[in-house]
Amino acid sequence: MAQLDKDDLAQMNEDYFKSLAKERLVEVAKNLHQLATDLWEKRQQNSENSSQPPSLDNPYTSKSTTKESVQSSESEKSETTTEQKQRDESSGKEKKEKSKRKPGKQPGGQGFGRSQPLKAEVIIPHYPSTCSACNQDLSKLDSQRYMGYYVLELEPELFGFRVVTQLHHYYRTTCSCGHCTHAQPGRGYISEVEGRSKDLQLTEYVLGGAFLATFIASLSVRYRMSRTKIQEFLKDWTNTELSIGTIDRCIRETGIACLPVVEELVEQLQQADILHLDETHWYEQGKLHWLWVALSTKTAVFHIGSRRKEELSHLITEAFIGWLVSDGYAAYRSHPKRQRCLAHLIRKAIAITGAINQKAAQIGQWILDDLKKLIATIANASEDNRLIRKRIAGLRRVCHLGKKVDHIKLQALAKEILNDWDAVVAFVKNPDLPPTNNEAERALRHAVIARQIGFGTRTKEGSLAYSSLLSVIETCRLRQINPWTYMASVLALARRGLAPPPFPVSS
Ligand SMILES: [Zn+2]
Repeated sequence: MAQLDKDDLAQMNEDYFKSLAKERLVEVAKNLHQLATDLWEKRQQNSENSSQPPSLDNPYTSKSTTKESVQSSESEKSETTTEQKQRDESSGKEKKEKSKRKPGKQPGGQGFGRSQPLKAEVIIPHYPSTCSACNQDLSKLDSQRYMGYYVLELEPELFGFRVVTQLHHYYRTTCSCGHCTHAQPGRGYISEVEGRSKDLQLTEYVLGGAFLATFIASLSVRYRMSRTKIQEFLKDWTNTELSIGTIDRCIRETGIACLPVVEELVEQLQQADILHLDETHWYEQGKLHWLWVALSTKTAVFHIGSRRKEELSHLITEAFIGWLVSDGYAAYRSHPKRQRCLAHLIRKAIAITGAINQKAAQIGQWILDDLKKLIATIANASEDNRLIRKRIAGLRRVCHLGKKVDHIKLQALAKEILNDWDAVVAFVKNPDLPPTNNEAERALRHAVIARQIGFGTRTKEGSLAYSSLLSVIETCRLRQINPWTYMASVLALARRGLAPPPFPVSS
């Protein structure tokens, strides 16, 4: 049977069908039926029944609808690589259907101890400085050691780094007033998660020193390594054994410590003249969420939440009076000074140029040409007002033409441009405005790859930690600052319950 191609379809219309004798018409219908069947089957393909990567799956279709296909393709599954299996497990698809196990070590499961005991290279004593009752200076008095613990700390060296084992000794001193004061490891913010047996408290009383913890967070968030890969890396390259739990704690602690820094960055965002906003889908506990980014030339803030408009208040407040560059998403519409991302419109126009309906394809091409010419005219700083006016009038005219063509996508694009006209052409009158939202899309790119590898986050706390780490790292990159020394100092202070140092403006 002949496979119908684009040219064949373009020649068929109502008049052609009417002109055919019945048996010819049946032949044509058979061909069309074959094509429709092929397309329908192709549309049903997803990562579970074809070689398509999970990133191409529709984020809006719930995982439970694909339940049957998981089971039916069981035999096919046994042939997939172990890596894919791990992916499927971590995606939470199977977890939901097959067991209600919580992630991590199960109660009653065998524990794993350290195979080699830690050996202290440095001993760091901590004495109480003043009496906690009467404020008297205690430095001259005798103290007794009452507790100690090991800390693994990363020490940067001129060329490279090494992991040092520190032994922290804590002393108590009895004052002349009779009161006994204990020096104690610092304690900071407690992060609570509903239903968790033990809350996360920032404290100095942990195995991972501030620099090592920041280093581990960098491997996870910036270099997108899994917990197990980080464990392997530390063992192979620094001869340091850490449990997955300790590694996870390091990443969360660093992220939670950065939360007040992000609040400062959000305030700085409001001062910007131009803000880029964009969002992409994200999974928290396998449920569909959104990862938002707001970006100025010197600051980037990420936020994980729902797709409701209220989430925007985590990024822009009423204090922001500058220009917003965004896509056409309705949540942005209420802001008065807006530039629509033309790259989005151009992509839609390109799709229409491939339409079977030749009239629609032609008008799609005109819209595409007019958008591109308009951007080029402004980019070349053309002062020829007549030329600019001509380009704008041309674009408007083809959109009005497109509205009348019987082609759903073309009509939608034409209406989209005309209904949001001021935001589409805002950059014409304000040459400082970029006509595309490429900056924000680029900023999201890193997280999109992380989502494809790790399938998102598991808890609200994990999302908060991840987005705050992204925000601080990306902002440091925009300001050309080394993020790690700053973040290590933020964590060291947060573990003692102290506020972070101000964010460096630039190097
Ligand atoms: Zn005293």
